Amino acid sequence: MARKIIVLGEVRDGSLRNVSFEAIAAAKTASEGGEVVGVLIGDSVTALSGELIHYGADRVITVEDEKLKQYTPDGYSQALMAVIDAESPEGLILGHTSLGKDLAPKVAAKLNSGLISDVTGLEVAGGNLVFTRPIYSGKAFEKKIVTDGLVFATIRPNNISPLEKDESRTGEASSLSAEIKDLRTIIKEVVRKASEGVDLSEAKVIIAGGRGVKSEEGFEPLKELAKVLNGAVGASRGACDADYCDYSLQIGQTGKVVTPDLYIACGISGAIQHLAGMSNSKVIVAINKDPEANIFKVADYGIVGDLFEVVPLLTEEFRKILVNA
Ligand SMILES: Cc1cc2nc3c(=O)[nH]c(=O)nc-3n(C[C@H](O)[C@H](O)[C@H](O)COP(=O)(O)OP(=O)(O)OC[C@H]3O[C@@H](n4cnc5c(N)ncnc54)[C@H](O)[C@@H]3O)c2cc1C
Repeated sequence: MARKIIVLGEVRDGSLRNVSFEAIAAAKTASEGGEVVGVLIGDSVTALSGELIHYGADRVITVEDEKLKQYTPDGYSQALMAVIDAESPEGLILGHTSLGKDLAPKVAAKLNSGLISDVTGLEVAGGNLVFTRPIYSGKAFEKKIVTDGLVFATIRPNNISPLEKDESRTGEASSLSAEIKDLRTIIKEVVRKASEGVDLSEAKVIIAGGRGVKSEEGFEPLKELAKVLNGAVGASRGACDADYCDYSLQIGQTGKVVTPDLYIACGISGAIQHLAGMSNSKVIVAINKDPEANIFKVADYGIVGDLFEVVPLLTEEFRKILVNA
């Protein structure tokens, strides 16, 4: 059944986040040959329309208003609802990001619709659109179909491959004016924690440290390795609780859920709450002194040893290979 699917493009610091392109790829599957309409919300986002089209959107609608400069659930839901009223789509796909996790349930409630959240895959099978999502902290997966109403989903970053960018693709870009009113929250200033390098939730390579790094300085070799591999540094809650790093780096059940191509766990025991945030990584490497550490049960490659010896050796070897490549 061909459907019109709306995809919200997520903008951060003036650029589209990767998950927006992944959402377009998901929408292409979900549309079953129908139309994919990208939506951009903000105060000055029109210039990004072309990029959504290059990644597969058939057309793009922008809703601009200075009240939409920063994300607020009231403002964005009013803007998105205006597009939904104008377009009457059969489906909606957002990223399962902080923004998407906040906005999607609010819009679903307004539409009296169901919502399939944290989707890691979708396919058309047996005449149905089948969504896959992890349950029980990633220990199992469930498959869901929509039997009635909107196909509404949020997709987990780094799980669905975006389509190849094609700059020759063209599509219509139009704007829609929406009345943005009665905002209960006004964001005056966004103060960001200074974070170096790659965004953890979208990183293809993550080097994570646990209590085994022993101190704030103990993260230095991990940062070096991350730099060489163009990756991000993450942490277990053990390391955050011990004040070796900031909680914004925490990965796990109560931290970030990540799915990089390569996850290198250094001095992390592998508690179930940590595994909940990283066990779906494509390749897991564990470095731990304790051969019985639980992390080895989910690791594709295990190195039993002292991380302060192993990590610098890995950095050196990767540096040689990558410089000669
Ligand atoms: C409700 C709840 C929610 C939680 N949420 C999270 C969460 O989101 N994320 C999370 O991570 N945890 C979470 N936890 C905590 C979790 O249960 C563990 O306590 C935590 O993950 C342990 O962190 P760790 O592996 O760094 O530390 P430890 O368990 O102390 O492990 C340290 C490891 O380092 C190894 N090691 C030590 N020195 C070296 C060395 N020189 N070289 C190599 N290896 C070395 C040790 O052998 C050990 O395996 C949660 C707990 C609860 C109760």
